[in-house]
Amino acid sequence: MDCSICSSLPVILRPPRNTICGSCYDGAKCLINLINKLQSDKPANKATINVASSCKTLMNASEWIMDLKNREEELEEKIVYLGEFSAAFRHRIHTDIELKSGFAASPSVSAHRALLATRSEIFKNLLESDGCKAAPMEAITLPELSHEEVESLLEFLYRGDLAEEKLEKHVYSLALAADKYDIPYLQRFCERYMLRSMNCDNALDVLEIAEVCSCRALKENALDFIVRNMDEIVFSSGFEAFALKNPHLSVQVTRASLMDAKKNRPNSA
Ligand SMILES: [Zn+2]
Repeated sequence: MDCSICSSLPVILRPPRNTICGSCYDGAKCLINLINKLQSDKPANKATINVASSCKTLMNASEWIMDLKNREEELEEKIVYLGEFSAAFRHRIHTDIELKSGFAASPSVSAHRALLATRSEIFKNLLESDGCKAAPMEAITLPELSHEEVESLLEFLYRGDLAEEKLEKHVYSLALAADKYDIPYLQRFCERYMLRSMNCDNALDVLEIAEVCSCRALKENALDFIVRNMDEIVFSSGFEAFALKNPHLSVQVTRASLMDAKKNRPNSA
């Protein structure tokens, strides 16, 4: 069909050159609906955009996208600005507390009391409680974490982010630490990683972590994944150890798998 939008040579089309194809029509409708949805979802005080509050044509779509682009650049600038504090951690500038791994003979990591207190209610309470003592606490020991895990935890607390290879290595310990030290943003960060990296080799570990941390959505996803890949997972070497360690979870896996089989059985009542 002659389409004045997606045709590579619109000038060769017959005048008045204003017909559009089904794909371009659907695309335009989708774009208008999306803009209107995002506009209506936005809190009133954030609606700084200059275009009309409701978008009826594509006339102002480019303006709207430009506004989003500008805001993205502002946010990136803000992230860089806020991230400069992590240099104080890297270069140990005015650090005033040490964090120690519970593992013997590992060096401590220097940090800032104020940062720990703003990132975690548990650290805040811990640091406040030493106000009544004669000397302030000089170190906090995280008994369950290795030295590398303490470093990764601190790196996340300062930067709000962590390199993929460190996350891959420490995600379970960090998820448990997020739960123990009440750091919800780290918890969500770990959850998102576990969801996108779930496979037959790690689904049982993810299920176990989700149960310990009471992450309902993650637990449902892991159970669903295990049920869908039951043949491979149930005969893996890890399943026996998992079942011995987590009898209540293996009961749930068995029940979920049975329910699934029943649902998918032909002519089921
Ligand atoms: Zn078209």
